[in-house]
Amino acid sequence: MSLHALFADMFQRASRLLIPSNCASCEQPLTNDPTPFFCRRCWELIQPLQGPSCPRCHRPFASPYATAHSPTHECHDCRTRAPHYSHVWAAYAYCPPLQDAIALFKYRGKVGLADALGALLVRALPADLDADLLMPIPLHPNRLRQREFNQSLLLADRIAPVLQRPVSYRNLVRTVDTDPQTTLPRSARLQNLRQAFTLREPEKVADKRIFLVDDVFTTGTTANECAGVLRRAGAKDVAILALARSVESGMVPDAWLPPSAFDRPPALRV
Ligand SMILES: [Zn+2]
Ligand SMILES: [Zn+2]
Repeated sequence: MSLHALFADMFQRASRLLIPSNCASCEQPLTNDPTPFFCRRCWELIQPLQGPSCPRCHRPFASPYATAHSPTHECHDCRTRAPHYSHVWAAYAYCPPLQDAIALFKYRGKVGLADALGALLVRALPADLDADLLMPIPLHPNRLRQREFNQSLLLADRIAPVLQRPVSYRNLVRTVDTDPQTTLPRSARLQNLRQAFTLREPEKVADKRIFLVDDVFTTGTTANECAGVLRRAGAKDVAILALARSVESGMVPDAWLPPSAFDRPPALRV
């Protein structure tokens, strides 16, 4: 083997270790796909969340007629316990392959996906969205040190130039390092989150319309606590802007699942 061929072989082996060669969702070999870690076919399966939904929390309604006669008809949860935010706008359903992409981005440090995920969010933004400023849901400094970046801030940075609004990322802070939200029952989550957020300069949010930016809107507990802090400081309106929203499994159309999702466990493989 010539020296040149030897180096080429070494480079190819090294790059296979550094850059995965298979789609993180369907495991087909990647060729010249534009999105890192995902094949073009899987990425194109990510379609905006559409259909009738609760105007407050964006929960999809099972019935296509739920809002036919009353566009302001809210879901049971919003009617029984009105949240502090005025509405949630979530771009996509939280299901594969987007769920795989968010997991890679957030938990495996693949910040190379920030541009692709930001572009997804920008692509779905309705024209009539407006606010005075964007605020990412903050991480506690311990979590930030561990993860090294705030995924919601990276998303806010990518939509701010499109909405032409500033990003405020130092004012709202998380002062209590809570347990991971998703593993706790509702009562424990609420207990944990009580007084977990505060504002360094509350006067700066007075009379402002604020978009809280989140990567995934799950139960809404965290977003609601942040919205409460902002509203108590005099914010005129707080809305949530999320890349993805968890939806009941029956509400995810089959077409949104990659073909292989039916014959494999929903494990993340990279
Ligand atoms: Zn794929
Ligand atoms: Zn609702």
